[in-house]
Amino acid sequence: DENILEVRNLNVSFQVRGSEIEAIHDISLNLKKHETLAIVGESGSGKSVLTKAFTGMLEQNGRISQGTIDYKETRLSDLKVNKQWDKIRGKEIATIFQDPMTSLDPIHTIGSQISEVVVKHQKKSKKEAKQIAIDLMEKTGIPNAEKRYNEYPFEYSGGMRQRIVIAIALACRPEVLICDEPTTALDVTIQAQILDLIKELQAEYKFTIIFITHDLGVVASIADRIAVMYSGKIIEIGTCEEIFYDSRHPYTWSLLSSLPQLARKGEELKSIPGTPPSLYKKIIGDAFAPRNQFAMSVDFKAEPPMFKVTETHYAKTWLLDKRAPKIERPELIQ
Ligand code: ATP
Ligand code: MG
Repeated sequence: DENILEVRNLNVSFQVRGSEIEAIHDISLNLKKHETLAIVGESGSGKSVLTKAFTGMLEQNGRISQGTIDYKETRLSDLKVNKQWDKIRGKEIATIFQDPMTSLDPIHTIGSQISEVVVKHQKKSKKEAKQIAIDLMEKTGIPNAEKRYNEYPFEYSGGMRQRIVIAIALACRPEVLICDEPTTALDVTIQAQILDLIKELQAEYKFTIIFITHDLGVVASIADRIAVMYSGKIIEIGTCEEIFYDSRHPYTWSLLSSLPQLARKGEELKSIPGTPPSLYKKIIGDAFAPRNQFAMSVDFKAEPPMFKVTETHYAKTWLLDKRAPKIERPELIQ
C-alpha cells in the first residue's frame, strides 16, 4: 500500500519564557492512503501539536526542531510561508476540531459558508456552488437542507454544526481529514451518529483519516490502526486488533482498563493514578515509569527503544526486552 504521509524522527518544541520545551519527541509514523489512524492519549500528550505540524498550524512560538514530514512529493517540514501552505492546508489536508463554533462564522449563513468554499476550491459559479452545498448538507445528514441553507450557526444544534464543519471540510475534497476530538463536546448518541457519518463519507469520498481522541472506546469502531501517545512520544502502535487484544505497553493496558466496556471483572472503574511528567523536567528512563505498576529498575535508568512485535505492531517498553520477566497483560473482560 501507498504511503500518503511519512513522518521521520520528528521533534516539535516551543519557546516558553526564554527556554525551549519539547512537546513532540522523535516520532516516526506512516499513513497509508484510505486508512484510518487513531491517535489516543491523555490530555497534554501531544496529539494536537503533532497534527498541527502536518498543516503548518503550530503557534508562533513553536517549531519543528528535528525530523521531516513528507506528504506525497512535498516535504511539509520545509514549508515556511503561508503561501506554500495554502496549497496543502484545507485542500489536501483538512482539520476539524472539537468546537464547531470556532470554525463557523456566526454572522454568515450556513449555506453561504459552504458555497464560498466550493466557489474557491472547486472553481464553480455561485449558482452551481449553491446546489453542491445543498447536496453536501444532505450528504452530511441535515434535514430540509434547502431551507436550512439560509439559517445561521446559532440556529443549529451542536451536532448539526459539527456536520456542517464536516461538509465545509469535504467541499475542498481533501485527501487527508484530521479529526481532532470532533465528538468530545457532543452527547453520546450524537457522537455515535457523527462517527458513523465520518465512516460513510470516507467510503464514498475515499479520504484518509487521522482521528484524535483521549477515549480509546471511541476508536474501536472507526480505526484501522491505533497509535498511543504518552508525553510527546508514540509508545505503542498497531492494528485495532493488536491494541485491543494483544497490547504490550502497561500504559495501553491502563487505558484499556479505564474503559467501561473492558474494565476488569469485579473491579471498579479507575482512572490511571498519577499524572504525566512535566515538559519542563528532564526525564531519565521511561516517562511512564513512575506510574507503571510493572516498572523495573531499568525503567528509571534508560529510555526503552521501540520493540517490534509484528510487522504492524511496535511498543516502547522494557517488558519486551528478552531479559525482562514474563508479565501477562491483566485480564480484561469483553
Ligand atoms: P488534549 O487532549 O487536552 O487536547 P493534546 O494531547 O492534544 O491534549 P497538545 O495540545 O498537543 O496535547 O499539547 C502537548 C503539550 O504541548 C502540552 O503540554 C501543551 O501545554 C504544550 N503546548 C502546546 N502548544 C503550546 C504552545 N504554543 N506553547 C507552549 N506549549 C505548548
Ligand atoms: Mg488536543
